[in-house]
Amino acid sequence: MIDLARALRKDISRRSFIKYSATLAAMLGLSDAFVPKIAAAVEGMANGKQPVIWLHGAECTGCTVSFANSHHPGVAELVLDTLSLQYHETLMAASGHVAEKALEEAMTRFKGKYILVVEGAIPVKDDGIYCRIGGKTFKSMVEEAATNAAYVVAVGTCASFGGIPAADPNPTQCKGVADVIGGTVVNIPGCPAHPDWIVGTIVSILLFNKVPELDKHGRPMPFFGKQIHENCPRRGGYEQGRFVKKFGEELPDIEGCMGAKGCRGPITYADCPHRLWNAGTNFCIAASAPCAGCVEPSFPKLPLYEPIEEVAKFIEESEASQDEGSISTFAASLGGAVAGAAAGAGAVYFAGEKAREKEGVE
Ligand code: SF4
Ligand code: SF4
Repeated sequence: MIDLARALRKDISRRSFIKYSATLAAMLGLSDAFVPKIAAAVEGMANGKQPVIWLHGAECTGCTVSFANSHHPGVAELVLDTLSLQYHETLMAASGHVAEKALEEAMTRFKGKYILVVEGAIPVKDDGIYCRIGGKTFKSMVEEAATNAAYVVAVGTCASFGGIPAADPNPTQCKGVADVIGGTVVNIPGCPAHPDWIVGTIVSILLFNKVPELDKHGRPMPFFGKQIHENCPRRGGYEQGRFVKKFGEELPDIEGCMGAKGCRGPITYADCPHRLWNAGTNFCIAASAPCAGCVEPSFPKLPLYEPIEEVAKFIEESEASQDEGSISTFAASLGGAVAGAAAGAGAVYFAGEKAREKEGVE
């Protein structure tokens, strides 16, 4: 068994404990009224640790690295202290036959009780022979472990939808976990998955003893319920038809929209603009990169830096309008201020709404 919290030798004071519980409540979109309940539940969980089996398939291990880099280390430790990681190929000290035996014993001892976390896509071509661990195919390992799991959680876009290992032409026919085993799989996509999404989802399952509300792609709504485009700091540039055409280009008086450089924000649902990455430092679009839509089933859709259909149409229309002067009139009517979503929605074509309709999102 791996006890990371103890390995890190960090003591959690009562005050910090309550603070971490408040952070967990915020992560899950719960009010402060839930903080005592969360604190009590986490304390209770620490007495009877939740067994977890974490398998790795076709992937880069980036999601484990992301998880280990949680910028709420106290929260991650707190959660890890309530978990009993029975098997994790990257973190466990054991290897070879000892590791294989540990996996078999964990599946028997905690039958029906463990959370199965899968990181990585599952190659299914030729019955899965292109990814084998200890002589077994990864496909058979996931199928066997999922049979007696209390919950199955797919971490990262590879495990959720196939991701980069399933990119065209997908020679090993990689698939996401749900497509292979069926049933309810909680998908936490991302390339990598944000540590808060992983920690928050596991806590939610442990607290409420059920999977959180999921969207049509099996993603927890608290983290994947909002469209990037609707919350984008460059949205004013979009509304005014001001697009970055070259990487590194800075437009005078406005943050230019990255749509012309392939931004997939209008068809991507995640809370990156609010949650931010790297200890709350920044996120792709604010750092002058387009959103690659890394949490969507279509990722990675090539070419990465060409405008998506909806945005290409909007760029064409806005440039035609600018030639006629209507967009500049619109911008002038706002006094040069950044046009927010509410101000612009009725005045210009809103590609995001079109994309939303196309994606069938409510
Ligand atoms: S297209 Fe991308 S950069 Fe432009 S407003 Fe939408 S999300 Fe932001
Ligand atoms: S902004 Fe887009 S590409 Fe960047 S992490 Fe979020 S979903 Fe992924």
